[in-house]
Amino acid sequence: MVKYLALFCLFLSIPAEIVSPDWGFFAHRKINRFAVYTLPKPLFDFYKTHQAYLEKHAVDADKRRYASRWEAAFHYMDMDIYPDSIDLTDLASSRYMYSEIQISNSKGLLWKKHCGSKVEDVAIPDSVKSKLYRSLGRVVFETPATLAWESDNQAFEMLIVDSFSQHGLLPYRIISMHNKLVEAFTNMDEKAILRISADLGHYIGDANVPLHTTENYNGQLTGQLGIHAFWESRLPELFFQKKHYVNIRPATIIENVKEAIWQTIHRSHGFVDQVFHCQLTAKESVSAENVMCFSERNGQYVWQPCEEYADKYDQCMGTMVWDQWENAIQLLGSLWYTAWAMAGEPELNNVMRGILPDTSKMEDVVSDAQNGAADCERQR
Ligand SMILES: [Zn+2]
Repeated sequence: MVKYLALFCLFLSIPAEIVSPDWGFFAHRKINRFAVYTLPKPLFDFYKTHQAYLEKHAVDADKRRYASRWEAAFHYMDMDIYPDSIDLTDLASSRYMYSEIQISNSKGLLWKKHCGSKVEDVAIPDSVKSKLYRSLGRVVFETPATLAWESDNQAFEMLIVDSFSQHGLLPYRIISMHNKLVEAFTNMDEKAILRISADLGHYIGDANVPLHTTENYNGQLTGQLGIHAFWESRLPELFFQKKHYVNIRPATIIENVKEAIWQTIHRSHGFVDQVFHCQLTAKESVSAENVMCFSERNGQYVWQPCEEYADKYDQCMGTMVWDQWENAIQLLGSLWYTAWAMAGEPELNNVMRGILPDTSKMEDVVSDAQNGAADCERQR
């Protein structure tokens, strides 16, 4: 049993006086660190050898947000903007549904599909349709994008304006990274295994934070600004070391990775109402002067939720944050384990040793973007 403070990914918009980035970094690093202990031999031996690397690079994905316009949308998924009846599990279909598509030839516009409308029988050749779907299925996708083709000596052009990616791509990114991890194990590419394993840990941490699954990610839509930091920073800092413990659960083989990732997203999103409701309940239960206080944090006095107020919030939330953290640790270990198994359980003893990659650069995103790029300008 291991005792630690917990915290998850921080958004860029969290007020600096409330949150230090180091706290978010701390939690992501510990998720990667603890996930190693979920693994069976011989995988445990390999990951334990590189535990320091995995811990250090658990936050590289967040660092890339400063350098890449494509990275931000990989860290969230605004589930509440979509009707429950819509199946989002296929990226190409989802992006297709929420894209505006225009087809034209030299004489002008021939056909147009608006965002939100379903069109199953587009009057374009099947080869172009399959090319369209392949493009839309890429996690990194350029928008607006154009596809050009010729048919019966006529030139056609398709313009695609994606309105889907801006509301988050987190689950698709996780699934994509897991596929890459299988490939890395298959190729026995140690650098890739470690780089992807570290990044995967970051995205799994984000997927277990309810506020990463809602458009109201910092309470900005309901007059609860700052709740993101309150939930993932102030509560852990004050209480987890005193009240909560991490139970390390063994990694298991995941039969259906895609399903497991979407279940995680839905589970996290299921906590959103409680996250907001408890904050209001807690605030009503304390006097006005006990809501925000100047108090010490990391050697500085900062304006942040008072301890009594935070305690009320923590009581209302129960063990939610801690449970989510434990889920992240176990799921990450299971994804590493499953990727290795899917690659045929390759021998790891002979894997090369060398200088390991710094994944805080744009390397991974840029390589994705070679086949298309996303317009994920939204920053949090
Ligand atoms: Zn993140």
